[in-house]
Amino acid sequence: MDQRLEANPLITLLLLIIFLLTGMSGPSGQSTPQLGPSESSRGALAGKVIVIDPGHGGPDPGAVGISGRTLEKYNVVWIARDLKALLEKEGAKVIMTRDGDNYLTLDARVRLANQRGADIFVSIHNDANLNRQIRGTTTYYYTAGSKPLAAAVQRELVRALGSNDIGVRQAPFYVIRKTWMPSVLVEVGFVTNPAEEKLLVDPSYRLRAARGIYNGIVTYFTSKSAATR
Ligand SMILES: [Zn+2]
Repeated sequence: MDQRLEANPLITLLLLIIFLLTGMSGPSGQSTPQLGPSESSRGALAGKVIVIDPGHGGPDPGAVGISGRTLEKYNVVWIARDLKALLEKEGAKVIMTRDGDNYLTLDARVRLANQRGADIFVSIHNDANLNRQIRGTTTYYYTAGSKPLAAAVQRELVRALGSNDIGVRQAPFYVIRKTWMPSVLVEVGFVTNPAEEKLLVDPSYRLRAARGIYNGIVTYFTSKSAATR
């Protein structure tokens, strides 16, 4: 070291101050922790708030199967539970509007999603028609902002079930019209079609339905985050 610097106590003091300052604010500081590999690879669902809404419940059975024994309100809550488990495994925060045989008004379902600041809202239903030949899967949306979610869910759900693809349709159903976030209403299949009624009470078919909806949600969030990157 330069003898003149060492000889000057004022400069020595200045060097000491500079050393302390750079030491404290340097790259070894604790102010910018890096994400670990487990956190950064959690994927598109981490932290997403997802409201799942099994239709009907309690005194409202929803659609009644062609056999007279199948009720929509039971079929949809099983799919919702399977879907919840799949989403939570990937780090999503899932809120069910109901998880038992109870009834909520349509407005209560909407308020729950709006108040909890949901990222998306997914209402699950079974369809019905006077024509028992009609079968297949439909996903409804209302706002333009909900259409990409509807398209992804419909595509993946039909793929998972191998069901008749009725398509994505726009309709002013209350729960998808009044919610503030991207919202879809999924009609998994027709309980008024004898073959589809049998499938909709089969636990393995319900799990496939849940997987299909799940894959659609993952696709939606993945393409959304890719678009904003
Ligand atoms: Zn319904």
